[in-house]
Amino acid sequence: MADTAVTWLGHAAFRVDSPGGRRIYLDPWLGNPKCPEAERSPERVDVLAVTHGHGDHVGETVELAKRFGCPVVAQVELREWLGRQGLEDETTEAFNKGGTVEKAGVRFTLTDAKHSSACPDGTYAGEAAGFVVEFENGTTIYFAGDTCVFGDMQLIGRIYEPDVAVLPIGGHYTMDPREAAVALELLGVKRCIPCHYGTFELLAGTPDELRERAPDVEVIAPEPGETVTV
Ligand SMILES: [Zn+2]
Repeated sequence: MADTAVTWLGHAAFRVDSPGGRRIYLDPWLGNPKCPEAERSPERVDVLAVTHGHGDHVGETVELAKRFGCPVVAQVELREWLGRQGLEDETTEAFNKGGTVEKAGVRFTLTDAKHSSACPDGTYAGEAAGFVVEFENGTTIYFAGDTCVFGDMQLIGRIYEPDVAVLPIGGHYTMDPREAAVALELLGVKRCIPCHYGTFELLAGTPDELRERAPDVEVIAPEPGETVTV
């Protein structure tokens, strides 16, 4: 089976090509200023996953889901709001923290995150969340979503044993490299893909700062549009 190929699309947006050939988009704000032109209009989407209701994460979810008729996994309140934007309601895609759903052969578990969550129109969107994504070959990636560091990351590490953690490091709205270094320690993860930095000046954390603070961790920092295999 192939590796899992992770492409950073700028900000918190990722395209993941699974070992089984599925194409998954997480937090698909493809209109973000760092998203390469060639990545703004996907040719295929098999599953969409959204961590919380903020516009910089919901992005083009509605438009993409309508175009590709693909499942959209999200916390129940957010998923219901997406339904009201014209997507079909689908109970098996609307879950909550601690729950796991399988879509296109890939398992998504909704985790805690410490952040706020409202939809672009102000509607309550439940709480912010993260995802543990387990691919067909067992490779497991933890996408923290927007969050500060929190002690229960230790539980996520213990229960799901992720191979890689995708963490926000920009600071201001989320954790910065100082907190991310502790998050990696709590998770017990040795490889990290940072995100949610560099989009705007306010998001000032850098991968180099994370490397300094977490010298035992391999910080894999692709450029927007670049693909890394894990
Ligand atoms: Zn955000």
